[in-house]
Amino acid sequence: MNDFRYKLARFFQGRTGVDALGRTVTWLALILMILTMITHSNIIYLLGMGCIAYSLWRMLSKNYQKRYYENAKFLEKTAGIRRKLSGMLYKIHSFVSKTKSNHQQRKIYAIFKCPSCKQKLRVPKGRGKIEVTCNRCHAKFIKRV
Ligand SMILES: [Zn+2]
Repeated sequence: MNDFRYKLARFFQGRTGVDALGRTVTWLALILMILTMITHSNIIYLLGMGCIAYSLWRMLSKNYQKRYYENAKFLEKTAGIRRKLSGMLYKIHSFVSKTKSNHQQRKIYAIFKCPSCKQKLRVPKGRGKIEVTCNRCHAKFIKRV
């Protein structure tokens, strides 16, 4: 096994290996393959195969200086998109965790609006009939929770 690893390491020595551009192309190939299964389109299939071939070729390329330059250029050109994408991912993530915590709160708290000022209020559930004081307008009312 170690011998195999050694040989593998030797094989990749001086070659480009996987960089950001290679990873992106591999992901693209994967997406195109999934699209092929859905659409049965020959063009998408060929594009996907092309992506795989390209990423393999880059990985094994011995002209790593040129590949490095390509990768740097790729990163430079996609900087704006990547920033937008990570911003979007962050928004999705915070939306999901917000929804999750809202859901959890609904299990523990009864959430309702103050009848006089419409302020959102929450009280712990399972206490029966309680008198609630609105923390904004200080109106008092009876609520069953
Ligand atoms: Zn109120």
